[in-house]
Amino acid sequence: MIAITLPDGSVKQMESGVTPMDVAKDISHGLARNVISASYNDKIVETATPLTEDGNLVLYTWDSDEGKRAFWHSTSHIMAQALEILYPGIKLTIGPPIENGFYYDVDFGDMTLTDKDLKQVEDKMLEIARGKHDFKMRSITKAEALEFYKKQGNEYKVELIENLEDGTITFCDHDTFTDLCAGGHIPNTGIVKAIKLTNIAGAYWRGDENNKQLTRIYGISFPKKKDLTEYLEFLEEAKKRDHRKLGRELELFTFSEKVGQGLPLWLPKGAALRKRLEDFLSAAQQKAGYDWVMTPHIGSKELYVTSGHYAKYGEDSFQPIRTPHEGEEFLLKPMNCPHHCEIYKSKPWSYKDLPVRYAEFGTVYRYEQSGELHGLTRVRGFTQDDAHIFCTADQLNDEFKKVIDLVLYVFGSLEFEEFYTQVSLRDPDNPEKYIGSLENWEKAEKAIVEAAESKGLNYKIEYGEAAFYGPKLDFMVKDALGRSWQLGTIQVDYNLPERFELEYKGSDNKMHRPVMIHRAPFGSMERFVAILLEHTGGELPLWLTPNQVNILSLSEKYEKYAEKVLNLLENDEIRALVDNRNETIGKKIRESEMNKTPYMLIIGEQEEQNGTVSVRKRGEGDIGSMKIEEFSELIRQNIEKESKDFNV
Ligand SMILES: [Zn+2]
Ligand SMILES: [Zn+2]
Repeated sequence: MIAITLPDGSVKQMESGVTPMDVAKDISHGLARNVISASYNDKIVETATPLTEDGNLVLYTWDSDEGKRAFWHSTSHIMAQALEILYPGIKLTIGPPIENGFYYDVDFGDMTLTDKDLKQVEDKMLEIARGKHDFKMRSITKAEALEFYKKQGNEYKVELIENLEDGTITFCDHDTFTDLCAGGHIPNTGIVKAIKLTNIAGAYWRGDENNKQLTRIYGISFPKKKDLTEYLEFLEEAKKRDHRKLGRELELFTFSEKVGQGLPLWLPKGAALRKRLEDFLSAAQQKAGYDWVMTPHIGSKELYVTSGHYAKYGEDSFQPIRTPHEGEEFLLKPMNCPHHCEIYKSKPWSYKDLPVRYAEFGTVYRYEQSGELHGLTRVRGFTQDDAHIFCTADQLNDEFKKVIDLVLYVFGSLEFEEFYTQVSLRDPDNPEKYIGSLENWEKAEKAIVEAAESKGLNYKIEYGEAAFYGPKLDFMVKDALGRSWQLGTIQVDYNLPERFELEYKGSDNKMHRPVMIHRAPFGSMERFVAILLEHTGGELPLWLTPNQVNILSLSEKYEKYAEKVLNLLENDEIRALVDNRNETIGKKIRESEMNKTPYMLIIGEQEEQNGTVSVRKRGEGDIGSMKIEEFSELIRQNIEKESKDFNV
């Protein structure tokens, strides 16, 4: 008998040789129907693997990440088989699961696969799936494994096997197909009910551009047809919400090859949006006791050698700027922190002065590979809503709570309702990896966890995820499509105060090191705007949107009245534009809708005579006619409804 411990702590005594699937059946037949993968003692096993020693068993269904991974990994075997049947002589290389689906890299020799061919591959895969073939693992000696692939003339698999140790090599069989594989499959092919091959791309063998280019086929699969339909709808919606597309349509930002890749140019409407976000955060930070500082875009190389950033970014980022003076070098700043440390150092401090909070919308530059650049989310120059708090170890807890309040206020005001947090702490087994005294670390970790707890955050703790210089708290938001994005971050730092020899005089009259907190609720203005656009689909909240109202005249005759309406609205601090063009009202309305303007006011003869406007609301259409003052009041009330209180 062996003792099998389940995640809830319960222990089952079962015959040695029992499989995870047997255990599932023993628990309930409902569970057994849904179990597709398992791990035993933290190692992924097959649901048919005999268990022969005591251990911890976790059973996975489709609903878990592990379940999906096994599902997609198994589907890549099915795809490999289908490809071999349809295109004899191809050479298979590797086919892992990824975040959304799987791929397989294949050497097609002289043949090129095109999108048109994918349908027939999908059909063949579904035919194989319907055969309900079990996935079966078997051990094989290195010599046999090499023999198998040498016979096929597959130098890729031969290379993979040559790097494996004899005695650890396994093959996976299903139906007539065999692949080199370490395991982690669903029970049989029949569980795969829906398949979509999404993309064909080029990929170098082992990611090295000196090697041969292979064909990478991406796909995704599901246990129900309905899931695939939903996924394809999700992709459609995500495409519509792509911030690069919205940025173009709403005229927010652009890129120019001439200016340089990854360097966003904010257009007037985008700049207005960004300015409003900055004003909003500035006001909140003012209230929270931050002081504003401003620093230049470059700093001497020495500054970054001291901070350690040169070691981190120097070689792989923008290279030093030289001057006519031999040996004098400056760097584009990759971080604002060193500048803020020097500001702190500009005068002596007593414990009574702390905490000090320096805030800056600081632009930083980091060289990203051109293949990594992506709209506003991955750029080479971006502006952080940065701040550094210098405080005593005893003040950490309070400061953390205040920063959490600020971050929650930001999320609430921008309609990010679903979020979770991750607390990154030390790896308890490797305390020597970290800088700073044990006592300080314990204080800081306790302060973070306690602050997260007292603010009622939904948090998970990750041990070993802390930076070498301090623990941190990250905020992940879920957007309207359920995608997770990392936004705000709060990070404790014992390293920079040490490197810059920052000090304050304590109540004991001795000099002490302050603790530093880095924090950025938005992260960066660029990335935040990108996420906000994808979250809202471009339908920004009324208080934030660059243009709240479009005044559309039925014809040029009403130009004067349109101007009058505009003036009255502007007096009430409402942001509006007049469209007096000689175009049909239908066209003006359509364009206004494209621009996602929250309100349209249509004015013609009747409106002019009565001193009214006909109002159309985004997403609702015609909401009737009203006096201009009434409309102003409506806007005011709606903005009030959107705005959240921020109390410090
Ligand atoms: Zn496999
Ligand atoms: Zn910093």
